[in-house]
Amino acid sequence: MSDNRECEDFSVFNIVISIVFQTSLKLNITKHGILMQTNNLTKKYLLDYSREEVYTFVQALGMEPYRGNQIFKGMYVQLLSDFTNLTTLTRSSRDKLNHTVTLRTLKLKEQTASVNDDTIKFLWSLYDGLKIESVIIYEGRRVTFCISSQVGCALDCKFCTTGKMGFLRNLSSGEIVEQVLLMKQKAKRPATNIVFMGMGEPLLNLKNVLKASYILADPEGLAFSQKRITISTSGIAPAIRKLTDSGAPFSLAVSLNAVFDDSREKIMPVSKNFPLNLLMESVRYYISKTKKRVTFEYILIRGKNDTKRDADQLIKLTRDIPCKINLIPCNSDDPEFPPSTTEITQWFADYLHERGRTTIVRLRKGWEIKAACGQLYADNETKIGKKISHNIKEKMGESS
Ligand code: SAH
Ligand code: SF4
Repeated sequence: MSDNRECEDFSVFNIVISIVFQTSLKLNITKHGILMQTNNLTKKYLLDYSREEVYTFVQALGMEPYRGNQIFKGMYVQLLSDFTNLTTLTRSSRDKLNHTVTLRTLKLKEQTASVNDDTIKFLWSLYDGLKIESVIIYEGRRVTFCISSQVGCALDCKFCTTGKMGFLRNLSSGEIVEQVLLMKQKAKRPATNIVFMGMGEPLLNLKNVLKASYILADPEGLAFSQKRITISTSGIAPAIRKLTDSGAPFSLAVSLNAVFDDSREKIMPVSKNFPLNLLMESVRYYISKTKKRVTFEYILIRGKNDTKRDADQLIKLTRDIPCKINLIPCNSDDPEFPPSTTEITQWFADYLHERGRTTIVRLRKGWEIKAACGQLYADNETKIGKKISHNIKEKMGESS
């Protein structure tokens, strides 16, 4: 399919998504981030600001330019939750900052640990009362922070619990960054990886996801390794191209989960809009431009996508693509989506491996506390978000 067609598809998709977004956006999320209304005082949420924006803001408050860097380091190296203890500043500057800005909007509602303490799940309440989850996973020397990019998700993948929430709103870049800051203060060891594999479709909140990732990687702040930040997508092909064109240095994971259009459409409605040929074209584009390899996530669902025919097609689809394949036995309470047996999982992994594909079977970490992939869910009481569960082109009255 031509690029034009692809852009057209994406713009229709964007229209639907933006209608969804607009109906659920709160007025106090502005173009420049979140404004917090506290005691008749409107505070700015400084985690929404890049380092350069912090510098500009500090000068606008009448402080000397070099104070900007002290403040940024206070936020990301000292992990301050307000400016009271930033003693390099005068008392009046600290008071002024505390009156004007806030550094925390997430409140911890619940913290749950797995039996052997290797997975910790956090339920946060946001400034508007909506809730999200994030997870820390300890796996040998690897410490992964799994973070959310949206409240819920519109894409309605049939095996995913987050999909059942629908989409409630995008997270601001600061809300994404704050998940990492708060987990950093709680973690037993520093994070080695940050993955956008919590709630939401990161490529439908690309601007904030990229801004947050750049802030996390800022050498004057947390200085997190760029390539160890992974953005995972269900396969929004035009957004993969957009991400590529942006030149962002972060890693990409694509949740493939099925290798034939008909079976993929059944479990991932979004693929009706972006079928496998478009998706794989966009992945090839990403690889040719970035020279990086991509990770494919492949959930193994018993009898649905774990046959020799599926394995052969997966080999075929990834033939010319430098990649790593993560196999994840499906985590679901739904009897429709049982995990493949241990024997089949091992067979599938060996089959791919023997044919030259780097393949890793991901353990079902945090299964018992519902912290494993696809199990994140926050009960937002009566609020059920919007879902895109049909072919969007049909929905818009267009022929496909
Ligand atoms: N929306 C993005 C990122 C969040 S989902 C995406 O889909 O990639 C993060 C990962 O969880 C994806 O790889 C997704 O395929 C996986 N996942 C969702 N439901 C799952 C389930 N029931 N069992 C195992 N993995 C699941
Ligand atoms: Fe959304 Fe990803 Fe879950 Fe699909 S798997 S519903 S895209 S969070």
